[in-house]
Amino acid sequence: MSGHRQERFDRIAADGAFDVIVVGGGINGIGVFHDLALQGLHVLLVEMNDFCSGCSAAPSRMIHGGLRYLENGEFSLVRESLVERDRLLRNAPHFVRPLPTTVPIEQVTSGLANAALGFFGYKGRPRPRGAVPIKLGLEIYDRISGSHRVLPRHRFRGRAATRDQWPHLRKDVRFSATYHDAWISHPERLGIELVADACARNREAVALNYAKLSLTASGLTLADGESGRSHSVTARIIVNATGAWIDDSAASLGARLNERLVSGTKGSHLILDNLDLREALGGHMIYFEHSDGRVCIVFPYLGRVLAGSTDLRVNAAGRTACSAEERDYILGAIRALFPDISVTPEQIVFSYSGIRPLPVSDADFTGRIPRGHSVRRLRGDIPQIGMVGGKWTTYRAFAEETVDMVLSDLGLTRKASTRDLPIGGGAGYGEGLTADLSRRHGMDPERAAQLVDLYGALADGVADFCETGPDAPLPGVALSEAEVVRFVRVEQALHLADVLQRRSPLAIRGELTMDLITVTARVMAREIGWSEERMSDEIATFLHDLEMYHGVKLKMSEGATQ
Ligand SMILES: Cc1cc2nc3c(=O)[nH]c(=O)nc-3n(C[C@H](O)[C@H](O)[C@H](O)COP(=O)(O)OP(=O)(O)OC[C@H]3O[C@@H](n4cnc5c(N)ncnc54)[C@H](O)[C@@H]3O)c2cc1C
Repeated sequence: MSGHRQERFDRIAADGAFDVIVVGGGINGIGVFHDLALQGLHVLLVEMNDFCSGCSAAPSRMIHGGLRYLENGEFSLVRESLVERDRLLRNAPHFVRPLPTTVPIEQVTSGLANAALGFFGYKGRPRPRGAVPIKLGLEIYDRISGSHRVLPRHRFRGRAATRDQWPHLRKDVRFSATYHDAWISHPERLGIELVADACARNREAVALNYAKLSLTASGLTLADGESGRSHSVTARIIVNATGAWIDDSAASLGARLNERLVSGTKGSHLILDNLDLREALGGHMIYFEHSDGRVCIVFPYLGRVLAGSTDLRVNAAGRTACSAEERDYILGAIRALFPDISVTPEQIVFSYSGIRPLPVSDADFTGRIPRGHSVRRLRGDIPQIGMVGGKWTTYRAFAEETVDMVLSDLGLTRKASTRDLPIGGGAGYGEGLTADLSRRHGMDPERAAQLVDLYGALADGVADFCETGPDAPLPGVALSEAEVVRFVRVEQALHLADVLQRRSPLAIRGELTMDLITVTARVMAREIGWSEERMSDEIATFLHDLEMYHGVKLKMSEGATQ
């Protein structure tokens, strides 16, 4: 076990009486942990896998108000989301950036009555949305952004102007509307930076990945998923932030539920290496309807193209993968949008899928299920507060609401707010960062730019770390051996996927090769103390998971293939 992990368990053994234990280290649990740490509480975060490895690793990577939710009459959710989007643009500018978003339109008035019915609770399939309902929706969207607006207002284009800008779009597009939202480059890293910020601000805050909390006859037990050792702990309150798993995990921690809290829907995305498609997008996200009325997205992402997503009801939480039908659905949607661009399964370099933890709903059409969140006191032997629903965009507000309930139940008052608090490498992030880094460390500007892209203003500290010991570039990618060591020591990486999928974007960008995986595994083995046998097992598990959950088959002698 790494010394840092051991030190965390030693602290728990010395004092396992927590004010709050947060179960579930997706973005919502991490948000609560961060906010509770800021209040000076003795708080423990327990995640059974890696941080941000569940639904929080599977979003469309939009930080958005949710234009589509207007159709369901979810005005307050849109208002809250727009405020939170703008906060993330300010507090995490290293990862969250504006994204011009364009809606191609074929019809004029179609969908108007349907949208109106949506306001009044109609839960069926929407009709194709024409120029009039879209214009109305965008007017409302701009109006809700109000006086605090930080992104430009929407604009409409006619057929000629649309064709000029997007000549490859399908021929029946008569108008287009462009509005601005935002995208997040590295959501998993933002979660990990929040964990690090929380622990840096409060020595009483402890975060553990690969650990599990259970309730036995003798009380709460924390099990270390790595060593198998257990520790007794206590909590005045448990916050259950296990997303799609909440029904099972709440019951296992003693809650008595009369009805189910969440009903998940599965959504999948593809990452394509397709230069023609990337160029055809002209730097915009295209937000469009497929033939079944579902909204799909496609946008340039880290030198590739990200496309998705599906929305299928599922009965149980768990790891999930993009099915062949979903893949064909998404590829079919892109082909229908850009008929003269070749889009093939061979261009897919990575796929991912997650389960949205949505509140239980009787909507016929999954797109009509509310996307809002709620905080619930769950009846049981131990006070437990459940977080139900939510979006990546609104995690901070959801966490704030939850923490307010925790503070009220503990008879405490709020000491600090996260509203204007920069996150991780967002603190001090600005224009001259790359040039400063390059100058200060005598570093090639390209390498400096890569570090700033991955760490924001933390890049300087990362460069310092890399200079303290031996270092070498990893084969064929913009990451070094010392950065891997730092992921293990500072960011709690314990397995190959933690490094190659979540601390860095190498997997999602389709940059994995056997050579890279083997060298990374050797660096981790040295740092963590894996035997040769353990290292081979780690590589085998990683390869298996890549194939099962991300559609990536690696041949032992070469790069990744779909
Ligand atoms: C396809 C798709 C697209 C999306 N797109 C967007 C988007 O573009 N923008 C946006 O704002 N939102 C988007 N979302 C929604 C957003 O991703 C989720 O709302 C958010 O990530 C949910 O976070 P969470 O922390 O509640 O859940 P999760 O990230 O799933 O976290 C729950 C965690 O609990 C852990 N856990 C479960 N049981 C236990 C236990 N017993 N003990 C310990 N740990 C446990 C799990 O391992 C998991 O890590 C999308 C979601 C999906 C699926």
